[in-house]
This record gives sequence, C-alpha cells and structure tokens, in this order.
Amino acid sequence: MLDYVGLEADLDEEARLIRDTARQFVDEQVRPDIGDHFQAGTFPTDLISEMGDLGFYGSNLDGYGLPNVSETAYGLLMQELEACDSGLRSMASVQGALVMYPIHAYGSDEQKERWLPDLGTGEAVGCFGLTEPDHGSDPSAMETTAERDGDGYVLNGSKTWITNAPIADVAVVWARDASAEGRPVRGFLVETDRDGVTTNEIDDKLSLRASITGEIALQNVSVPEENVLPGVNGMKGPLSCLTQARYGIAWGAVGAARDCFEQAREYALDRDQFGGPIARFQLQQEKLAEMATQITTSQLLAHRLAELKERGDLTPKHVSMAKRNNVRMARDQSRIAREMLGGNGITTDYSPMRHMANFETVYTYEGTHDIHTLVLGEDLTGIAAFE
Ligand SMILES: Cc1cc2nc3c(=O)[nH]c(=O)nc-3n(C[C@H](O)[C@H](O)[C@H](O)COP(=O)(O)OP(=O)(O)OC[C@H]3O[C@@H](n4cnc5c(N)ncnc54)[C@H](O)[C@@H]3O)c2cc1C
Repeated sequence: MLDYVGLEADLDEEARLIRDTARQFVDEQVRPDIGDHFQAGTFPTDLISEMGDLGFYGSNLDGYGLPNVSETAYGLLMQELEACDSGLRSMASVQGALVMYPIHAYGSDEQKERWLPDLGTGEAVGCFGLTEPDHGSDPSAMETTAERDGDGYVLNGSKTWITNAPIADVAVVWARDASAEGRPVRGFLVETDRDGVTTNEIDDKLSLRASITGEIALQNVSVPEENVLPGVNGMKGPLSCLTQARYGIAWGAVGAARDCFEQAREYALDRDQFGGPIARFQLQQEKLAEMATQITTSQLLAHRLAELKERGDLTPKHVSMAKRNNVRMARDQSRIAREMLGGNGITTDYSPMRHMANFETVYTYEGTHDIHTLVLGEDLTGIAAFE
C-alpha cells in the first residue's frame, strides 16, 4: 500500500489495529460485492450491525460503550472504508459524525442514553437533515419550521439529499424555531415512524450509488420537548457536526485515491502493449509519479489535522482546506487512474471509475468545493464573498 514517506511506521498499536481491522473487513466482506451494489444502487444493509460490532460508528466519542479512539485511528478508519467505496465511509460518517456527535455534544442525558448505545452498535440507524430542496449551500435560509404546541413542537418542511433517510430510525432535523425570538435554528430528534414523516428514496443517482439517499417530508409532525437538543442554538449546531464529518472526508479521500493508485500501478505492470508492460512507458510513469505525490501530500495534511484535533487546536478553516484539497485531489487522480486502465477502466471490475463517479458527490456534499474556497478566501482576506 502506498505510504511513501512512511507515516504509518509511526502509528501506535491502537491505530494499527483499527486500520487492519477495517482493511480486513473491507477486503473480506465488502470489496467482493461492492461493484454489484454500485450497479444495483443498493447498500449492503446486512453489514450495518457488523460495522457497529467492530466499533466503526462514533469511534472517536467516549462513554456509552463507545471506543473513544484517537483522532488518527478514527481518520485511518475513514481512510480504509473509503478505499473500498465512498458510500461505505458515508454510512459511518453520517452515523458517527452527523447523528451521534450532535447527540453526544448537545443532547440531554436521556437522549444520550436512549440513542448512543443503539446507534453505536448499528441497532438503530440515523440520518442528518439539513439540506432542503431550495437551500443547499446556504442552509441558514432553511424554511423548515418548528412551532410551539403545548409541551412540544410541530414540525413542517422538507429535506432532501439525506443519506440513509429511507432506512433511518431517527433523523436529526434542523429547523427554525418559529416561536422563539430571532427564529433560531434548533436540532430535533425525529423518530421516522412518527405521524407525518415520509422518507422517499432518490433512486436516479449516477454517483454514490452504493449508498441510500432520500428526502424527508415533515407534515405537522408533533415532537415532545424532550426531543429537542437542549445544548445548542443557531447554525453552530449543524456546522459543528459538518466539521466532524468533513474531517473524516479529508482522510477518506486519501483512501479512495490510494485504491485508484494501487489498481493503476498493478494494471500498468500487468498490461502488455507494444511487446511489454505499459508501466515501462514514461507517459504512464509520469501519471503514477504524480498520483503518488498528490496522495502523499494529502495524506500528510490529514495526519497534521489529526494532531491539531487531538490537542484541541483544529479549526473549521483547517478542515475546509483539507476537505477541499483532498477531495479535489482524489477526484482528479481517480480520473487519471481510470485512463490508465484503458477500456477495462470503464467497468465495475476495477474501482477507479466507481470512485471517480462517487467523487462527484463527495466534491459537492458537506460544503461544495466552491463554498470551501470562499471559506478560505474570507479567512485569508477578511472579506466574505458568499453573496
Ligand atoms: C449523494 C448525496 C448525499 C447527501 N447527503 C446529505 C445528508 O445526509 N444531509 C444533508 O443535509 N445534505 C446532504 N447532501 C446535500 C449536500 O450537502 C448539498 O448537495 C450541497 O450542500 C450543495 O447544495 P445544492 O446541491 O443545493 O447545490 P447549490 O447550493 O444549489 O449549488 C449549486 C452550485 O452553485 C455553487 N454555489 C452556491 N453558492 C455559491 C456562492 N456563494 N458562490 C459561488 N458558487 C456558489 C455551488 O458550489 C454549486 O457548484 C447530500 C448530497 C448528495 C449529492
């Protein structure tokens, strides 16, 4: 496996164990069928609880039976899952960073007791409802509302592009509290079997096909006060969750790019044209050299992020830079790897084109590449260029 500057030599035992566990799980249980799932537009739901048993959900969180592993170990887990498929990493990211994290960080003791153990084992599945049909890059303009009604709230609105919505037991829904001054954004834990909740699958995707995506319609959905996340008010709530998930994406992208590189290198050494392996051509070597260099520099950035996160110095801007850089790198390099595989490269027998298609989603979700450019632009100049 590509690890050109020997970063993995410095891993501690815990990080190695998690990396190896995830690698083995992926190789034995997922990789053999992932091309079929991608073609069929299905996720291997039978593996959801096994991923829980292996500690893949919320593994960097503590308490409630959760593993509380280091940020490097968590990153390596995301890297190995995405080396198989971005859909697999998305499952773990959504469950851990977008559903368990807000409950852990902002939930009441009762909410934590109710949900964290079940989400951790995969007995329950969660989803994160922020994006709306008319509000993607600008979620603060959301139209979903929560109105006070006796002891609880009534929710109305619609969310779209929600990973796992059709199979979720609980949705973290972000809505404007229309009864409070200033209409702050608040987080609501909405069980998907409540009256008025419907979750339709979006089934015409050409990207992230091995992942279940859907809409959430909320029509006069009553939720009690105890379903409101008490510890957060305003956009800080959803944005802080996205920072956690984007951290995982910065690592995951390195894994998928590495998988493309490994396939391209192996293919170039095996494939003969003009009387010998195509790996002997300078044109092909240049592609491998560039790919290895780009992957290595992105890997270095991911490792640095882990150090900053571990000591509490990681900022959302650092994460924006890494998500933006590493995903663009993986998107570009997956295309080069595909190219090196010639005609065979457009089939599901090889991973690069599947990764390449997935990266159209990863480039877009959790803040598009453009939006992270603007985040960095504002940080570097002090001038916001969003509007
Ligand atoms: C497969 C998939 C899974 C997803 N899962 C989830 C999920 O689980 N939960 C969830 O809440 N959301 C999810 N999303 C939604 C995702 O986060 C949004 O698609 C993303 O935020 C972009 O929003 P949009 O699609 O509405 O695009 P838009 O915001 O309409 O953007 C369209 C284009 O305009 C550009 N643009 C927008 N604003 C600016 C600006 N100010 N300056 C310059 N360019 C700009 C964008 O970069 C983009 O290129 C998912 C999306 C996909 C595709």
